[in-house]
Amino acid sequence: MAEVLFIGTGDAFGSGGRRNSAILVRGKQRTILLDCGATTLLGLKELGVDPLEIDAVAISHFHGDHAAGLPFLMLDYLYAHERDRPLDVLGPPGVEDRIHRLNQSFSYDGNGQDRYAVHYQEYTIGKSLEIEGFKVTPYPAAHHPDTVPHMLRVELDNRSVFFSGDTGWFDAIPNNVGPVDLFISECTLFEEGFEFHLSHSRLKKERERFECKRTIITHLGAEMLSNTDRIEFDTAHDGSKLEL
Ligand SMILES: [Zn+2]
Ligand SMILES: [Zn+2]
Repeated sequence: MAEVLFIGTGDAFGSGGRRNSAILVRGKQRTILLDCGATTLLGLKELGVDPLEIDAVAISHFHGDHAAGLPFLMLDYLYAHERDRPLDVLGPPGVEDRIHRLNQSFSYDGNGQDRYAVHYQEYTIGKSLEIEGFKVTPYPAAHHPDTVPHMLRVELDNRSVFFSGDTGWFDAIPNNVGPVDLFISECTLFEEGFEFHLSHSRLKKERERFECKRTIITHLGAEMLSNTDRIEFDTAHDGSKLEL
């Protein structure tokens, strides 16, 4: 069994007051956080989640609404919830350098120091990363190339979750998602019109091509939020919880 708790379901602009991207996936023994947007620590605390529950963080791409919360989480582990065991951080190539630079820019020397180790692992398309309790397989995404965008398939406790990260539409998406238990799809736009994000109209049009057992949409932008009465997919909200 697995549980999915949406910490943040908004876009980069905080549309509708929603927090930035962050999704907690809990297995029987271990917990992984998919994305750690700028508002993640705030969300964990508002929802009563102990940050120390997190064993690993997997970042989909380097936009701030998906990764800029890591320095705050690491700061929390140094001073508020003292961490005494390693943290796995999975991310696109260059993740270790990016997170070090973020911490430096914020003058937070959060990279573990002597208190806990941070184990970084980089994605390679076609190769699964195995960490205790989870298998994470990266897939390509169609998003701003300098953010090194990926989609992520996560397997745990005989359950599977596929997270789109941020992406525009391309033909291989339904095949890549496959027959997972849950497809968490970004849906920034209501109507199609931008190559680097998915829209409700496109997901609706392609719906029959997906074999996943369940789909839930997240990363809702202002246009989506002004069309809530026309949304035809299960929609995640900050604090939504699902069992798989
Ligand atoms: Zn985003
Ligand atoms: Zn993005």
